[in-house]
Amino acid sequence: MIERTLVIIKPDAVKRGLMGEIISRLERAGLKIVAAKMVWARREQMEGFYPSDEGWLRSVGNKTLNSYKEMGLDPKAELGTDDPVEIGRMVKRWLVDYMTETPILLLVVEGNHAVSVVRKLVGNTLPYKAEPGTIRGDFSVDSPDLANREKRSIRNLVHASDSPEEARREIAYWFREDEIYSYK
Ligand code: ADP
Ligand code: MG
Repeated sequence: MIERTLVIIKPDAVKRGLMGEIISRLERAGLKIVAAKMVWARREQMEGFYPSDEGWLRSVGNKTLNSYKEMGLDPKAELGTDDPVEIGRMVKRWLVDYMTETPILLLVVEGNHAVSVVRKLVGNTLPYKAEPGTIRGDFSVDSPDLANREKRSIRNLVHASDSPEEARREIAYWFREDEIYSYK
């Protein structure tokens, strides 16, 4: 089950000097870096990278709604809407702001079950819920209530593809086939 997955070291991790720490966690687990590139993405590039379909926007919006419910916060009062797709659209704009703050580091990571193994090393999307020992759990306590109140995306240090299909699309979005290496 040798797979490839896309990892992005996001601007908060770049600013905090955590690129090396994150790469060494991937290497320590036995995963192989087969491509790497630093880019300062343009807004349109980030808009095209993250999905725009209703399903994805709803899933992102629901992360806010669930954590508001847990905390007894009223989404209408905080954000002016309780529609998950609408909130998803708002979050996507903040996400594009975040991802274009500094250059980002793009990595193609290869290994046995790489997609699910990397997701496990990275941890829950919401750092306050991520287990200790994961990248997000060890280096952040961010949550949607805090982030959304400050009109910004959750800062969670890394992106990692969610499925083998997403990985194929995301890798092809940033890398040409001849930029990805094969070595023992
Ligand atoms: P993941 O990065 O774990 O795959 P998603 O694909 O659902 O998570 O979301 C993409 C990114 O958008 C997240 O990593 C996070 O930075 C941001 N994000 C997602 N949901 C929210 C939210 N409800 N509020 C603020 N930011 C969010
Ligand atoms: Mg995702």
